[in-house]
Amino acid sequence: MIPAALEAVDLSHRIGVRTLVDGVDLTVRCGEVVGLVGPNGAGKSTLLGLLAGDLSPSAGEVRLGGAPLRGRSARSLARARAVLPQRTVLRFGFTAREVVAMGRSPHGRGVAGLGARDHDVVDAQMRRADVAELAGRRFPTLSGGEAARVNLARVLAQETPVLLLDEPTAALDLRHQELVMDLVRELAGEGAAVVVVLHDLNLAAAHCDRIGLMREGRLVACAPPWEALTRARVGEVFDQDVVVTRHPARDRPLVVAAPGVSG
Ligand code: ADP
Ligand code: MG
Repeated sequence: MIPAALEAVDLSHRIGVRTLVDGVDLTVRCGEVVGLVGPNGAGKSTLLGLLAGDLSPSAGEVRLGGAPLRGRSARSLARARAVLPQRTVLRFGFTAREVVAMGRSPHGRGVAGLGARDHDVVDAQMRRADVAELAGRRFPTLSGGEAARVNLARVLAQETPVLLLDEPTAALDLRHQELVMDLVRELAGEGAAVVVVLHDLNLAAAHCDRIGLMREGRLVACAPPWEALTRARVGEVFDQDVVVTRHPARDRPLVVAAPGVSG
């Protein structure tokens, strides 16, 4: 049995009277890519924040490598999981390479104290995310898609067994969407456990082992693509009639919006 890298047990998050995440149970194993999809405001980013330990649950528990998250130091967390947030934090003045090098700080004495291996990792992950040529550029001058890939390289440079990625492909062109999802698969192939929030159902269908559908804070289902993305379930979760067909080039579902009654 492949060990569980990340477990959520009856996880809830409330703010005032609102329940943003409602009783979620989820287990992610080493080598597995789990996609999270759902309409805007379904609670995907909040769930990711709870899994990361950036938010404290109102109820339930998160376990990372079998041990509860609660009470672990920031440094211990940073060695265990890396997080790509949905919104880019402005990093004034830093070059792209310096931003990526920040990913090494949990392993050493901070950015100023990087060793030869740290520099090798930074360079290798920048190549992997296709941002090597941006190394000397000031971070705030990068386009949205370039900044997203630099942030991804920073996350990769952290070299953690668990990766939590919030819409890593949202700002990317078609080639870079595929590049990032291929990279995610490659990392899982090396043993990482990945949870990735995706906007695009077909990107999730093509690249994820299981797809979790969220609606109103609840994880409605979490299953392999063909099982998760049925017409009935997608229709219910997104409140939109769809057609589910087979991808012409891979044995994965392809979901498109159904024309309205007047169309
Ligand atoms: P998703 O990522 O699925 O679009 P989020 O997890 O970001 O959804 O948000 C879920 C819901 O909770 C949204 O309606 C959002 O406005 C609300 N929300 C998120 N964070 C807070 C907060 N700190 N205070 C109040 N409401 C919040
Ligand atoms: Mg979100």
